[in-house]
Amino acid sequence: MSLAETSAHKTRTGSAAVIWQVVAVLVVLPSLGRGSAACGVAAGSGTIGSVHRASCACGFQVEVTVGGAKRTHLERASFPFYCEQCGLIGPNTAEDPIVCPSCRSAKVRQYGAPPVSIIAGKTGPVLEWASFEAFATENFCPACKHMTLVFGRARRFFS
Ligand SMILES: [Zn+2]
Ligand SMILES: [Zn+2]
Repeated sequence: MSLAETSAHKTRTGSAAVIWQVVAVLVVLPSLGRGSAACGVAAGSGTIGSVHRASCACGFQVEVTVGGAKRTHLERASFPFYCEQCGLIGPNTAEDPIVCPSCRSAKVRQYGAPPVSIIAGKTGPVLEWASFEAFATENFCPACKHMTLVFGRARRFFS
């Protein structure tokens, strides 16, 4: 009898615990739901930043940032460009005109468009941000000055 009572008590306690967990999940879920939905939309429309490696057979290698943080991408978002003076740069594409962050020159060229990238026959850009896109191969290397710079897939993302 006392054993039955104990087990019944345990069962009730168990149910209560389960109910509490359900309540906790229901309370937490709406905020999680919003977060992950926003995140999914952001990734799909390119409003989340990523970091890629740009490398060349000549030994040149840098990391490039594509896009911006979720909260600030309208004011600050990056895409690889080529500056005649500074080489491979990551200007703020939210600025108009887009200028080199080092020398402030407006003589900058977007990677993924001629003349610093060969785009004929290319599909499936490896770098994408807003209306900017660039492909993995045949990009102008600022070190050896050949069209041998390669952009890699995203190494990591930030938001
Ligand atoms: Zn420059
Ligand atoms: Zn090179």
